[in-house]
Amino acid sequence: MRDTINVLGVNIDNISFGYALEKAKQMLKTDGTSMIFTPNPEIVMAAYEDPEFKEILNSADMCTPDGIGVVYAAKILGTPLRERVAGFDLACGLLESISKTGESVFLFGAKPGIAEAARDKLYEKYPGLTVAGVQNGYFSDEDNDAIIKKINDSGANLLFVCLGAPKQEKWIYANKDKLNVNLCMGIGGALDVFSGNVKRAPEIFIKCNLEWLYRFCKNPSRLGRFAALPKFMLTVKKSAKDKNK
Ligand code: UDP
Repeated sequence: MRDTINVLGVNIDNISFGYALEKAKQMLKTDGTSMIFTPNPEIVMAAYEDPEFKEILNSADMCTPDGIGVVYAAKILGTPLRERVAGFDLACGLLESISKTGESVFLFGAKPGIAEAARDKLYEKYPGLTVAGVQNGYFSDEDNDAIIKKINDSGANLLFVCLGAPKQEKWIYANKDKLNVNLCMGIGGALDVFSGNVKRAPEIFIKCNLEWLYRFCKNPSRLGRFAALPKFMLTVKKSAKDKNK
């Protein structure tokens, strides 16, 4: 039975990082295709405004609170979450684990060449890891069946889908029944980071819950996306007020 907290209609798992990783490892050993999504405030706000996207997030087997804003929101709503569980860290934990168990991962997403570069860097970081295949994230609808076949033929157990939100969640949901992988995870720009093309925030920013600020300063063109943050907080505050009426 999942312990979830409702943040603006999205069910977020109230879990520690260690528990999330154990659950994800179990999903890798379970028949069928499980889905893990990693909502940050932008994603929750998008789901609040898009009922279809909200349904998709709520059909996941696990939704981790990826951004610290989601953790603050849960607190404001009077239903605190244990901690932030970043999708990127969970992905790293899974890679570390499968590098020892012999299971394999397929990397799907990002611009041409990035998934290959990510694979090479991951081989250095996790000796013993098997990357069963790679596929860039720029494709047309006609290519979809061939991509599913490529993923299934690779024999991968784990699939990282890195197309950005909500595209990756919608793609996973639409194709889940055709996939033979045990676990799909939507993890945004992770392949850009694995490949070394984009740097993750230094540890100090992560520890101080300021990863979002680092990402913004490094890439001010994301301003439009960060504008979702104040809107998210205002909507949460209003929702908390309505709850206490
Ligand atoms: N992307 C993709 N196909 C698309 C659109 C985006 O593969 O049609 C990739 C893009 O190249 C990037 C990732 O999706 O690697 C999204 O990264 P972003 O940092 O925007 O995602 P976030 O982690 O913020 O959701």
